[in-house]
Amino acid sequence: MGVSGVPRHWRSLRERYRLLGTYCENCETSFFPPRKICPKCRRRGRTKEVEFSGRGRVFSYTVIHVGSKTFEEYAPYVIGLIELEEGPRVLSQIVDCKPEDVHIGMKVEACFRKLFEQDDGGIISYGFKFRPVDDSWVEYYRRLLAEKEAGAAQTQSTG
Ligand SMILES: [Zn+2]
Repeated sequence: MGVSGVPRHWRSLRERYRLLGTYCENCETSFFPPRKICPKCRRRGRTKEVEFSGRGRVFSYTVIHVGSKTFEEYAPYVIGLIELEEGPRVLSQIVDCKPEDVHIGMKVEACFRKLFEQDDGGIISYGFKFRPVDDSWVEYYRRLLAEKEAGAAQTQSTG
């Protein structure tokens, strides 16, 4: 990975802060990372830049126990293939949870995090990682509803 000066770094930072991809109006397919030419339609493709929601699900994942020197402070960590709502799949680290909490189909959302810090402490690189979507309240609410329904059914049968 080449580092060619701070101004370029900050320009790309602005781009990276938005999860940008490409949408082809011809075949109605989204792509990530962005492409100039639709790989399906080639010259017939009509591509435009789109910003993805950043929401998706874990399609597959792997737990890394020994990282490279750059990443060792994160080990063990999880690298997941995230399927975005819009369709494309993104390879990314999954953060804010224990490796054993990650499962296929888990809902995740993009967050903006430090990617790595070089040994000399000079360059810190930022980019997207994915974290679990906290929808525990949804589960809680569902359980409450289920209990209420079960309670109502019981009242009917006894009354
Ligand atoms: Zn296309």
